[in-house]
Amino acid sequence: MKTLEPFDPEKFLILIVDDIRKNLQLLIEILDTVGYRTTFALSGKQAIERLKGTKPDLILLDLMMPEINGIEVCKRLQQDENTAKIPIIFLTAATETNYLLNAFEAGAVDYITKPFRTPELLARVKIHLDLKRTKDELEKAYDEMKRIAATDELTGIPNRRSIFNFGRQEFELSKRYNSPFSLLMIDIDKFKTINDSYGHDIGDEALKMMVKTTLNSIRKVDYIGRLEALEETPEKKGHLGRLGGEEFVVILPHTNLKGAYKAAERICKAMTAESLQVENKPVNITVSIGVATYDQKDEKMDDLLKRADLALFAAKRNGRNRVVIMHNDKLTVGQ
Ligand code: GH3
Ligand code: MG
Ligand code: MG
Repeated sequence: MKTLEPFDPEKFLILIVDDIRKNLQLLIEILDTVGYRTTFALSGKQAIERLKGTKPDLILLDLMMPEINGIEVCKRLQQDENTAKIPIIFLTAATETNYLLNAFEAGAVDYITKPFRTPELLARVKIHLDLKRTKDELEKAYDEMKRIAATDELTGIPNRRSIFNFGRQEFELSKRYNSPFSLLMIDIDKFKTINDSYGHDIGDEALKMMVKTTLNSIRKVDYIGRLEALEETPEKKGHLGRLGGEEFVVILPHTNLKGAYKAAERICKAMTAESLQVENKPVNITVSIGVATYDQKDEKMDDLLKRADLALFAAKRNGRNRVVIMHNDKLTVGQ
């Protein structure tokens, strides 16, 4: 994780909300001297409007205002996902402290009592801005770690753990709602030969090319021109993951055996049609695919995986570059 940059007030925008101009002016002046950027609103309504266009790092919010009071503004901002994470410090008169519990309940992080003591005001503002950016950085780092833990580094697709987690969830849903579910096991043919003949780097390129070609064969197309085609081929909704080495799995929720077979054939054919350019010469890369679909006897996704694995093995034995189905204890070899 990268370390935090030094605290620089100029990087922060603070929204000040108060119905009394004199208060606003004073706060702007204090914050401005230190270098913070500020913006202001003279009412709760104006503040909500302002927040549609700007995203401050902190809000100083007057508790007592006509029309919509501070607590109401705070509640509304908490409910909106665009503003919910902006820390809010209430500005309260000493006589209003009995409302503070409500303010904290509404989502405030702190309060400052009027009349302001400049050092205290600046200290609280700085603490909450610093806390917020530390929290943001931690959240970012956490998301990035989650992404890395779920992704295959070379190809960028889900790794074994991630695709199996997804598959198991989808399998349970299919079981509960009795909807079809299929999966494909894919293995590149004679991959060792590719590595041995052209080197490991070209092997890596072959893996990336295989992933790209497969994704093009199974992914929904999301531009308008091809939506009709999508409806004709509802099985185009597979999720590809890398199990390790040159082995992959495609999870096909809501897809029956026929649909899964069609998807597998499409991948197989697309791979045959594509080639990898190595020193301006085409190198063909083919795959063998095993297909399995959900059967009421299946208790877990691993039961399907075993059948797909047996089918894949049969595809290799039968000459590679082909699709084999294993269903009802029977192997069916494609062309
Ligand atoms: P088959 O048609 O029977 O599947 O033969 P194969 O050569 O593809 O199968 P085998 O399992 O014998 O060889 C797989 C090879 O994949 C061996 C290994 O060095 C290579 N490999 C595994 N992971 C990677 C990788 O990330 N990059 C590269 N370039 N090669 C890899
Ligand atoms: Mg192989
Ligand atoms: Mg293998």
